[in-house]
Amino acid sequence: MCAGAILVQNTAWANARRALDNIEARGADSITGIAVLSRVELAELVRPSGYYNQKAAKLAAFCEHVLDNHDGDLGKFLSLSLDTLREQLLAIWGIGAETADAIILYAAHQPSFVIDTYTVRLLDRLGIAPADISRKRLRETVMAALPPDLKQYAELHALIIQHGKATCRKTPDCGSCFLLDHCAHGQLQGIPGVRGVRAIPPDSA
Ligand code: SF4
Repeated sequence: MCAGAILVQNTAWANARRALDNIEARGADSITGIAVLSRVELAELVRPSGYYNQKAAKLAAFCEHVLDNHDGDLGKFLSLSLDTLREQLLAIWGIGAETADAIILYAAHQPSFVIDTYTVRLLDRLGIAPADISRKRLRETVMAALPPDLKQYAELHALIIQHGKATCRKTPDCGSCFLLDHCAHGQLQGIPGVRGVRAIPPDSA
């Protein structure tokens, strides 16, 4: 899960899966297994996920952190409290908020809401939060509004991705969207310059 969250950055899951398959076929699907590989070999294994030199460096940095600070024990690392785990993840080179929250949610099984491009776009179009709001503020607002329910966070994130890929695409298919009745953007399609009122004002407001 942790490697998958890093490898899926800027690519489709199918490509990340191919890279994970390569790591597994090499018998390197563990913290020490990855750590002992040369950077060149690791980059070759993760090549299908794109940006392979960078992703190899990120995976190596993640493993190094677990080895240096948690005796190589991934379970121990993922058992840290949510805030401490997030702080440590964000301090690892190449791990941003989206990747950190995905690791916390899906690997550590702790309720940290994942804000990704699909979430930002959907909440903007629904008139809930402007697209230029900071992701930090958006995450804090969403988490303040929703009870810290692991299953609900995971399900909601998966559904937002699905909706963003199938319907609320860059060019949205509003005619087939079940949210149209609640969507400022969808209803105002075709009226130039008109935007809905958002529940959460921009950062500058
Ligand atoms: S109505 Fe259109 S813009 Fe609104 S959520 Fe649905 S697809 Fe997205």
